[in-house]
Amino acid sequence: MFAERLAQVSESATMKVAAEAERLRRAGHDVVDFSVGEPDFPTPEHIKTAAKDAVDKNFTRYTAVAGIPELREAICARYKADYGVAITPAEVLLTFGGKQALFNAAMALMNKGDEVITHAPYWPTIPEQVKLVEATPVIVETNWQDSFAVHADTIIGAITPKTKAIILNSPSNPTGALIDEAAVAAVADAAAKRGIWIIVDLCYEHLIYEDVPHNLPKVLFDRHRDKTVLACSASKAYAMTGWRAGWTIAPASLTKVFNTIQGQTTSNITSVTQKALIAALSGSQEPVAVMRDEFRRRRDSIHSWLTANPGIQCVKPKGAFYLFPNITGLLTDSVRSSMDFAQQLLEKEHVVVTPGEAFEAPGYLRISYATSMERLREGADRMLRFAESLQPAKASAS
Ligand code: PMP
Repeated sequence: MFAERLAQVSESATMKVAAEAERLRRAGHDVVDFSVGEPDFPTPEHIKTAAKDAVDKNFTRYTAVAGIPELREAICARYKADYGVAITPAEVLLTFGGKQALFNAAMALMNKGDEVITHAPYWPTIPEQVKLVEATPVIVETNWQDSFAVHADTIIGAITPKTKAIILNSPSNPTGALIDEAAVAAVADAAAKRGIWIIVDLCYEHLIYEDVPHNLPKVLFDRHRDKTVLACSASKAYAMTGWRAGWTIAPASLTKVFNTIQGQTTSNITSVTQKALIAALSGSQEPVAVMRDEFRRRRDSIHSWLTANPGIQCVKPKGAFYLFPNITGLLTDSVRSSMDFAQQLLEKEHVVVTPGEAFEAPGYLRISYATSMERLREGADRMLRFAESLQPAKASAS
């Protein structure tokens, strides 16, 4: 009855846990939610003021599909300042969040039967969008023992004559891992030789907690500029998830195609959001640094609390705002999987975590630390108590 292209596309695997959490909340329980995928901070004041001004000045009409020129120029200036790369407004198009940026790229580049390589554990939208345009995701696995490193040789080894694109996400949701500049360079060189597109999801580009080089725009533009798409977002860096503000940086010829796709679907992103985004990108970046520092403190705290239990094995992620521990050491006959663990943790301790199954990574949990330190402490205590209760019957035997 529905279009065939939807046959392969899944709904979010986290729905079951989310629905149960909502039921418990409504029943009046104190639920600690570690499943949140957005900053808990309010949007910074100067950004809100710019939006209010836009409304007061009746900046409420259609704009150019790609976004107003001053905003596209502000994006060029931001990337020049942050990465030292020269971009022109013709290479920039504003999208309804990073999600639409990625979707435009999928629509514009992928044909039925094309293969598209990406790495797991992944943010589910990435492979699902590939399937939505009837291409085939090809998944390269990474693991915690290796800090979820994406290795160039495994990506290159997955290339076939059908490979149309490679999608990289760094920092990663759900693992928080960064992809090395050297790995991206090697992948770009291989892709350039074979005419394969590289799409990089930079949604968490400003949430990096270590002083490590991560100039992926420059690495890619130096090698593979004519087939690189950067998919970016204001959601996480500026605490603007609800404003729906993202953008692509891509060759002008491809940006024209994005313009056609968007012009026949959603058109320009909200005019008021555009003015707010100019303030976000051109104004002080201090609020970003303040949020980043707070996220770093929370990461360090929750990581040290949870890893006190040797069954919770977890690298300290370098970016984004998630911990992604491996909990196979805690599994028992009655808690056989990370999905079981998430469900029973919710039932018994009212803590919501996202099971690794949602990211093609059974045995792991995703724990968002985009919540206050007090709630982190409370949730960590409950998780540790639950984990302790799962230890083999040693305690009861003694
Ligand atoms: N990429 C990744 C890896 C994400 O986690 C998200 C949001 N969860 C996005 C892109 C898109 O976010 P938005 O559409 O709000 O910009």
